[in-house]
Amino acid sequence: NADAAMYRAKSSGRNNFQFYEKEMNARTGQRLALEHDLWGALENDEFHLLYQPQIELASGRIIGVEALIRWGHPRRGLISPLDFIPMAEHNGLIIPIGNWVLQTACRQMCELLASGLPPLRVAVNLSARQLGEKDFISVIRRTLDATGIDPNCLELELTESMVMHNVEDIIGVLKALNAMKIQLSLDDFGTGFSSLAYLKRFPIDRLKIDQSFIFNCDSDPDDAVISQTIIALAHNLKIKVIAEGVERPEHLAFLKQNGCDEAQGYFIGQPLAFDELRSMLLAGQEA
Ligand code: C2E
Ligand code: MG
Ligand code: MG
Ligand code: MG
Repeated sequence: NADAAMYRAKSSGRNNFQFYEKEMNARTGQRLALEHDLWGALENDEFHLLYQPQIELASGRIIGVEALIRWGHPRRGLISPLDFIPMAEHNGLIIPIGNWVLQTACRQMCELLASGLPPLRVAVNLSARQLGEKDFISVIRRTLDATGIDPNCLELELTESMVMHNVEDIIGVLKALNAMKIQLSLDDFGTGFSSLAYLKRFPIDRLKIDQSFIFNCDSDPDDAVISQTIIALAHNLKIKVIAEGVERPEHLAFLKQNGCDEAQGYFIGQPLAFDELRSMLLAGQEA
């Protein structure tokens, strides 16, 4: 935090202050340069999507994928969404970038169909600003029309914080999406402060247990109880539950034993480039 750094610098004398000032200017400069480059990234075709497999625990079958954006920066290499999505949310670029993600994910799922594969669900992460746009529903409708994807194969991932503001408006949007047969999931569930009363009013299809609870679910009794409670909560509300961040066989065993429906994580499958995903699915079909 820049203010805190400034305060520390000022209170520890002039030399330190100059040091902090230099460091801060360098960091701010880097951020500004990155933000400048972000404005051209769509036009220069620098984004791509990776797809991480999601399995149904009862059958072990791949039933979906989550689309995860990457920015291949021409000089800095691959940049994580954690480093540019917040920036894009701040300057509004998230709207065109988010539209590109929706279009690309839906189009590539249709390409899988064209390769002879069965329909696969694709989950797309949304930002609060996208959901808040007045024409969001028509953007979705246009994407469905333009790509021809079965709406039931599109899942939109929301977070608790996104749905806690303007609750009545958001419920209206979610109901419209639900009526279009699009699936909705709550990402990183358990890390925000969602009111359980609201949960009942949202037409949510799936809760995603945050990876922070899965990490020690096999060794920490608190994490185990939290995971079990989220599974029970989802099932009592008649919604599905998926665990993210499954990194070890012990995680998978725990989730199966506790009746979790679906899972995703490095132990099940890394995020893959589209061509790798298609090859893997085609190979699985032959087997
Ligand atoms: P998320 O939606 O919670 O996605 C899960 C993140 O966990 C991904 O990181 C994924 O690569 C990572 N992950 C998957 N399996 C494991 C595992 O077993 N262990 C651990 N430790 N991590 C695992 P990624 O791809 O860096 O994405 C980070 C976040 O960026 C996402 O979190 C999502 O909030 C955001 N994001 C990604 N793509 C998009 C996008 O297209 N639009 C928006 N608005 N946000 C996006
Ligand atoms: Mg997600
Ligand atoms: Mg998540
Ligand atoms: Mg997460």
